Amino acid sequence: KFSYAHRLGLGSGNPTGKIPLGLKRKGLRIVVTGGAGFVGSHLVDRLIARGDSVIVVDNFFTGRKENVMHHFGNPNFELIRHDVVEPLLLEVDQIYHLACPASPVHYKFNPTNVVGTLNMLGLAKRVGARFLLTSTSEVYGDPLQHPQKETYWGNVNPIGVRSCYDEGKRTAETLTMDYHRGAGVEVRIARIFNTYGPRMCIDDGRVVSNFVAQALRKEPLTVYGDGKQTRSFQYVSDLVEGLMRLMEGEHVGPFNLGNPGEFTMLELAEVVQETIDPNAKIEFRPNTEDDPHKRKPDISRAKELLGWQPKVSLRKGLPLMVSDFRQRIFGDHKVGSS
Ligand code: NAD
Ligand code: UDP
Ligand code: UDP
Repeated sequence: KFSYAHRLGLGSGNPTGKIPLGLKRKGLRIVVTGGAGFVGSHLVDRLIARGDSVIVVDNFFTGRKENVMHHFGNPNFELIRHDVVEPLLLEVDQIYHLACPASPVHYKFNPTNVVGTLNMLGLAKRVGARFLLTSTSEVYGDPLQHPQKETYWGNVNPIGVRSCYDEGKRTAETLTMDYHRGAGVEVRIARIFNTYGPRMCIDDGRVVSNFVAQALRKEPLTVYGDGKQTRSFQYVSDLVEGLMRLMEGEHVGPFNLGNPGEFTMLELAEVVQETIDPNAKIEFRPNTEDDPHKRKPDISRAKELLGWQPKVSLRKGLPLMVSDFRQRIFGDHKVGSS
């Protein structure tokens, strides 16, 4: 059995796997599960640009080939159509495990978070790879602490309509820590807060993509409930930077990765109006069950230990997403670019 340090050719004297200063980093072999999805495809771009070899494993449940098509033909890039619920044999140094039906309209039907995570941890254990789990702020449920620190254990309804996702990710975190403690697998856990940007699914029901698509199509923005619930929206490049720092750093986590800028859904609708169409109408709809009232990350831990904090505000990031949505909705053929 290999350890991560051996895998990187660093020997057992360096259990953290940290590459000593002055030593040139060799290209790594990296699996990104869910790499054809929104966040995954941006991560793949950065890893390829850095000179690593990347294998994307995706079943295209919500991901799209178009998101990674610009890497086809690059010998450092491979794409495998595979459902991570089934076992998978590969030889790699690092595993970014993002595969997950991430939107409320999709996630109810799938054991990916539990069985898929178990398989990827089994793979990490067998080959001595470092494993990063993309967990979620949803592990805090409808939080009773505000903002949420990583030490907060959350307030989750175990039998609610959202619980397949919340509890699925909580179980994934548990499995990750068990493989770390029990089998010595090197692990990292990120708790991601609401993220937006180019290549987001257009019709998966998330609020930023809904509002942007609605404003572009001259449809009313659908605000659920009274619109006073809050979320904190992070631009995708900030998240990818955080994920890479976490993977390369020495700390297991969990780490909140999110932008602390907090907005009500009505405020978000106003920013979308300012950015796309000041005349866009707002329409109120009944809210979904168990909708968290407030959400805002406390990112002190990531600031201190990863030297990370988001750089792109909502007002700066939203226009970058709008041009991508405009191209995709109105049929311009330049898909996949950002
Ligand atoms: P996404 O839906 O765009 O990407 C998920 C990818 O996983 C898709 O390409 C999908 O086809 C793939 N996938 C799903 N089930 C699979 C399976 N069984 N086998 C193989 N591939 C499978 O979503 P995203 O926003 O890019 O999310 C990426 C990760 O980040 C997810 O784990 C998600 O839970 C987490 N996350 C995202 C956000 C956010 O706001 N975007 C917030 C919190 C957590
Ligand atoms: N697994 C995998 N690829 C590997 C090694 C393991 O997909 O390279 C899967 C394996 O099929 C199992 C899961 O990961 O379902 C957990 O593996 P582990 O070895 O930890 O458990 P065991 O097989 O001993 O129950
Ligand atoms: N929401 C909304 N209009 C929409 C879609 C969502 O007002 O068209 C609300 C939803 O009720 C929730 C918030 O926006 O309060 C964020 O929803 P999303 O599904 O994007 O993320 P999550 O609930 O997972 O944080």
